[in-house]
Amino acid sequence: MATLEINNLHAEVAEEGGEQILRGVDLEVASGEIHALMGPNGSGKSTTAKVIAGHPAYEVTDGEIVLELDEEDVDDIDVELSESDYRWNLLDMEPNERAALGIFLGFQYPAEIEGVTMTNFLRQAINAKHDERQELFADEADLDEAADEDEDAGYETSPMEGPADDGEIGVAEFQELLTAKMELLDMDEKFMQRYLNAGFSGGEKKQNEVLQAALLEPAIAVLDEIDSGLDIDRLQDVSEGINALRDEQGTGILQITHYQRILDYVEPDHVHVMLDGKIAKSGGAELATELEDEGYDWVREEAYEAA
Ligand code: ADP
Ligand code: MG
Ligand code: MG
Repeated sequence: MATLEINNLHAEVAEEGGEQILRGVDLEVASGEIHALMGPNGSGKSTTAKVIAGHPAYEVTDGEIVLELDEEDVDDIDVELSESDYRWNLLDMEPNERAALGIFLGFQYPAEIEGVTMTNFLRQAINAKHDERQELFADEADLDEAADEDEDAGYETSPMEGPADDGEIGVAEFQELLTAKMELLDMDEKFMQRYLNAGFSGGEKKQNEVLQAALLEPAIAVLDEIDSGLDIDRLQDVSEGINALRDEQGTGILQITHYQRILDYVEPDHVHVMLDGKIAKSGGAELATELEDEGYDWVREEAYEAA
């Protein structure tokens, strides 16, 4: 089981005199849990997602983001692991390394590329993650080994091999995986014959985001407003996909949403309200219903009185 731990996170816009946006965010999301992150526009929800991803527009000024893994999260790794391979400070890592470790942040769509099918694009994404992942842990093993050698001069080890380029997923194997994931998400196979991005509606892009998360099998997926602009049928499809990620793959979900509507279909274990760059209140699924009925003002008043 993996846990994403966000402690006292402070972040500002990364420019001279940049505005402070996050003012002490505390949040913990474990595999298999669905957390809804709600809050009014401008409260810092998307910034939280982007800072988790390592977006260069923001500078973290305090706090930490840690991903804690256990045995089952690293059973694909070829090199010998040590204790430090189970606890990672994401703030020290590049965005692609964070993704390789098991954080999924809604795919940014590349510009339309003629002749690149979605299947090829997705297969490349899986292979890129695989390579980055092996490399990440191999680099760690190199560091551990160097430390061991310092302690025990004369201790002979063979140098680490570079990242293994076997273990990549081939075309046929990918097709099988894709079919299985599309069944899991109850998706139409025709979808995949489309060219990348060409002619995808807004709703199809959101479904595709869930499919990407299913294929990459992240420990934790951060989904920012995946419900915006969806009609009711598509909202249900996307929601069922999110439930399947959790139920069938054990993915932990941080579901960022402005509206309560999607939470009729994706039942969160925990609901958090963000106000002015912090979590002002947390509760169970019933909190989302209260917010729908009464808005955010009472949370603001409560937080103000407590301060
Ligand atoms: P939410 O997703 O909750 O609507 P955001 O995290 O997008 O809120 O934004 C929080 C606040 O930070 C807003 O006032 C927004 O204008 C500001 N902000 C976010 N990113 C930047 C940026 N790169 N440059 C300047 N201001 C920003
Ligand atoms: Mg936002
Ligand atoms: Mg190590």
